[in-house]
Amino acid sequence: MPEFKNTFSLLHDDAITDRYKDSGLINHLRLISGVVFPENCDDVANTLHYCIKNNMHCYPISSGRNWGYGGASPVLNDALIVDFKKMNNIRHFDDVNGVVDIEPGVTQGQLAHYLKDASWMVDCTGAGPDTSIVGNVLERGFGHGSNGNRSQHFTIKEAVLADGQVISLDDHKDYVGRAGLSAGLQEIFTQNNLAIITCIRFELSKRQEESARCLIRLTNANNLPLYIDKMAELKAEGTIDTLPHLGNSFRMFGVSQQFDFTQWDNKKGVTEQQIKNSLAQNNIAPWSSAFIVSGSKLVTKARIKRIKQQLKGIAIVNSISLKSLIKINDFIEKIYPLLKNIKIYNRLKKTINQLTQAMIMFEGNPDGLALKGCYWRHASKQPSANEDPVIAGCGFYWIAPALPMKGEVVNNCIELTKSLYEQYGFEFAVTLTSVTSHMCQAIVSLYFNKEDEKETLRAKELIGLLRDTYQKEGWICYRRSIDEMPFGESEIECDAIAIRKKIKASLDPNNIIAPGRYE
Ligand SMILES: Cc1cc2nc3c(=O)[nH]c(=O)nc-3n(C[C@H](O)[C@H](O)[C@H](O)COP(=O)(O)OP(=O)(O)OC[C@H]3O[C@@H](n4cnc5c(N)ncnc54)[C@H](O)[C@@H]3O)c2cc1C
Repeated sequence: MPEFKNTFSLLHDDAITDRYKDSGLINHLRLISGVVFPENCDDVANTLHYCIKNNMHCYPISSGRNWGYGGASPVLNDALIVDFKKMNNIRHFDDVNGVVDIEPGVTQGQLAHYLKDASWMVDCTGAGPDTSIVGNVLERGFGHGSNGNRSQHFTIKEAVLADGQVISLDDHKDYVGRAGLSAGLQEIFTQNNLAIITCIRFELSKRQEESARCLIRLTNANNLPLYIDKMAELKAEGTIDTLPHLGNSFRMFGVSQQFDFTQWDNKKGVTEQQIKNSLAQNNIAPWSSAFIVSGSKLVTKARIKRIKQQLKGIAIVNSISLKSLIKINDFIEKIYPLLKNIKIYNRLKKTINQLTQAMIMFEGNPDGLALKGCYWRHASKQPSANEDPVIAGCGFYWIAPALPMKGEVVNNCIELTKSLYEQYGFEFAVTLTSVTSHMCQAIVSLYFNKEDEKETLRAKELIGLLRDTYQKEGWICYRRSIDEMPFGESEIECDAIAIRKKIKASLDPNNIIAPGRYE
């Protein structure tokens, strides 16, 4: 057995390991036995051998920014963290076929910078430039564009099994996608603990001739079911091939404002009625969405026409090319010195600025703007787009029930969730993403003030209740938080759990890699 030495060292220093203790979830701190920063596969194999020898377990993270689901924290106490921040090479870029081979430490920002002059780009998530691609793919995360359902767009180029064996599930000399004997094996390594992944092949998105933005506003909340049904049709017929995110008013409001502790009662929660004026001033509709429509000029134009036609009477649909939006934004910036004292101008400037920033993200430029929303109930800090929200002390959770793209079911879920939020005195914020024409992904956000013990307890109760409710209704969550793991008796996917256990036992009999994760 190789010795655990030379290439890297095991660090126990509290100042270094502190970062991995706090999952950001309520009452969920983990003891960490140490951390290693591998630089290559040998380092990873050595770590695993060391764990076997010392009867320890480890927990790999890519950038460890799994915010809202557990951050950098492991499921169980006493894990040795395998932090891939030093293993961040872009090993290969096929600029004809549009794929990259990347190591776990590669961040969205790094890849975007690497591709800045290429005809391919990365389909970004809203989690900002410092988050990884590999960790996100392994969590089955999603972005916004046509390749946004990321776990469908990768293969495992290199992984290390628990016994130190290095494997590849993509031996194609030239890229062809998922084919051959390994085709169906890729995804069993997502949301799992079967191996440590050290390189993936990742499909990029082509930069298009035309890139327009569709801005959708449902002025009446009652139109939600109809909107979902129409969106299912638009996706099924191929008019929309991206992943439109529809946000409710609190989700949009939270990015630009914070809870006003001087005016609103944190035990009761602020109602939409109470902030009616602010919502109107900020031009926020009950539900709104901004998504990308792209292709050749002709295709884009035809798509927008069809979307407008289909959503007539349900939503206000506006469209604008990104080029025009940037021009307007530049103009507004230019005249700022002349109009800076006019209130309405300042509001317009802020809205256009934010919209432009968000829209540029769809062009392969990750942006941390959405991170500001995590500060909604932070009582002592101003929102920041650059800081780690867990370290900043923001209290927030994501809960992610996957729903059918059926208006009635989506509406039932929304109404049920809303009533629970009202009961517990929190503002209900949610996005609904049309991932496919069949599946709608809800990301329900709960923001609370971590500095307030009672409020935190209330939030914890509500989280438990939401999780139970979704299970009872059969709305399986697409992604889970580590404070739910290992899963309890009440899980409904019993057969899947049993099969996963068998696979785990054969690949990792000593239970070394991330025990408890998704099991
Ligand atoms: C405001 C905000 C917006 C967000 N928007 C999005 C969004 O649009 N889409 C989205 O998907 N998420 C989003 N998130 C959630 C989350 O922050 C991202 O998914 C983020 O990319 C996950 O963190 P990471 O990339 O650092 O992965 P990591 O935390 O490094 O990895 C996630 C998990 O995968 C496993 N893992 C990681 N690396 C390896 C490896 N090499 N081998 C084996 N297992 C491994 C580990 O169990 C780890 O806990 C958002 C979060 C916030 C706060």
